[in-house]
Amino acid sequence: MITLDRVGKTYPGGVHALRDVSLTIEPGEMVGIVGPSGSGKSTMLHLSGALDLPTTGSVTIAGQNLSRLSDRELSALRGRAVGFVFQQFHLAAGVSALDNVADGLLYAGVPLHERRRRAEQALTRVGLGHRLTHRPHQLSGGEKQRVAIARAVIGDPPLLLADEPTGNLDSVSGAEVIHLLRDLHAAGTTIVVITHDRDVAAGLPRRIDLRDGQVIA
Ligand code: ADP
Repeated sequence: MITLDRVGKTYPGGVHALRDVSLTIEPGEMVGIVGPSGSGKSTMLHLSGALDLPTTGSVTIAGQNLSRLSDRELSALRGRAVGFVFQQFHLAAGVSALDNVADGLLYAGVPLHERRRRAEQALTRVGLGHRLTHRPHQLSGGEKQRVAIARAVIGDPPLLLADEPTGNLDSVSGAEVIHLLRDLHAAGTTIVVITHDRDVAAGLPRRIDLRDGQVIA
């Protein structure tokens, strides 16, 4: 699903966020990325989701080498193959849960009534079938993150990337979100999750441990 081959990422200003990283994530894996702040976790996740390009080496997602794709092909790959979940939820304020999720299909050319029908299904799948018309400020943190996950998976992407999805949640809501990610993994989605939470990390089948831009374990 994801191959990093001798990947380096240097930001303007000369920060080497990743150095010579090679690894493969197979379809259907559930992988945690762990490491201290500044070790390169977000950079690795962004490259794995075609949100950014490496400075050196190559990144291949679902068989496509990112450096051979145009900007348009990169967005198409992201839209088709990758769902993203962030610590801060990134839901549109004042917009119902249903329409926040339906927006996940905005660029797929699906008509509104069909987007809403599928959004309702996706919200039901994350246990929020009773919260369709609630707006973000009427939802708890855990519910907001479940809406964000429903939006990320509405197009049924093979790959879901989550950047600290439990970072803003209490432990009970955090556990629910992880449970949901496990369900998606069990249903076949490849999941890569950045986490600071030791308990979450310890429960994952595979962990990639980063220090100073390199994989140390
Ligand atoms: P983590 O997610 O583990 O905290 P990051 O991948 O965010 O690590 O950052 C790795 C290093 O790259 C850090 O030193 C950070 O300051 C730097 N960095 C991240 N993004 C940028 C950017 N857009 N421009 C310049 N430096 C950046």
